[in-house]
Amino acid sequence: MSGRFDGKVAIVTGGASGIGEATVRRLHDEGASVVVADIRPEAIDALAGSLRSDRIVGHRVDMLVTAEIETLIATVADRFGVIDVLVNNAGIGSFGRITDIDLAHWREVMAIDVEAAMWASRTAMPFLEKARGNIVHVASVAGIAGDYGFAAYNAAKAALINLTRAMALDHAPHVRVNAVSPGLTATPLAVGLTGNPDIMAAWTNALPLGRPADPAEIAAAIAFLASRDASYVNGHNLVVDGGGMAHTGLPNFTNILGGASHLASAESLVIRPVPGEPA
Ligand code: NAD
Repeated sequence: MSGRFDGKVAIVTGGASGIGEATVRRLHDEGASVVVADIRPEAIDALAGSLRSDRIVGHRVDMLVTAEIETLIATVADRFGVIDVLVNNAGIGSFGRITDIDLAHWREVMAIDVEAAMWASRTAMPFLEKARGNIVHVASVAGIAGDYGFAAYNAAKAALINLTRAMALDHAPHVRVNAVSPGLTATPLAVGLTGNPDIMAAWTNALPLGRPADPAEIAAAIAFLASRDASYVNGHNLVVDGGGMAHTGLPNFTNILGGASHLASAESLVIRPVPGEPA
């Protein structure tokens, strides 16, 4: 690895699993001291045990509790003096239309997927400013368009994406703020989807690359945004979805109209009015 993070201090919330774990591994491999901030101490210990490095620091935190977020930031600041990178990754999924969920459900999704990122960023800001550091929010393609039965999650991730833009304006030039929006990624959070053959049959057909992302592929994008390679990238939402959001949602005409044999006729590629017929 290039050592882009040599001597840097990074915090990854929700760092003990999935995209967070892959991000911890990537930043550590590139030289950072990484604080694994997660609600599950046993998962933190398992990750720290597998990396066996004095540059991995575990910190148990419930990102739903503002006082615990403040303790996390204070502990890291006391130990290291600065914070170079904050990855706001901790998040939960949510299934249901607004008529299926109650306010407690809605508020929990908003609290972890938006508010926790805001509060961690606010609390860490003086230390990020000191380091001329940056923040990466882990949003989702679900924050860019709507899905069936994901109302709270769609709303929360959309809020996080626009919060990214607002913060990028407010905290420049000292602190850059960007987001990564993964598409379907093979993590424990998504196992209810990736483990269902009917869902996966429909989904992989719609994914241009034909498979979910590996968490390491999302971590690579997070590491790019957090690195000096992205020194002029600010307020950006980097979609990492294998091309899924490139699709307008129209049916696959090339398959329906006969695929390659149909496209072999150049005439069939031109869409124009037929002379003499009303438009
Ligand atoms: P994951 O469940 O594998 O990991 C999430 C981690 O967050 C876990 O280790 C969990 O213990 C921790 N966490 C949950 N609640 C917490 C809390 N209150 N305080 C502290 N830690 C807490 O999930 P993942 O798929 O890696 O998701 C990571 C992020 O990526 C989330 O923000 C999610 O919305 C987003 N995302 C995931 C996908 C996907 O398909 N997996 C797609 C788009 C976006």
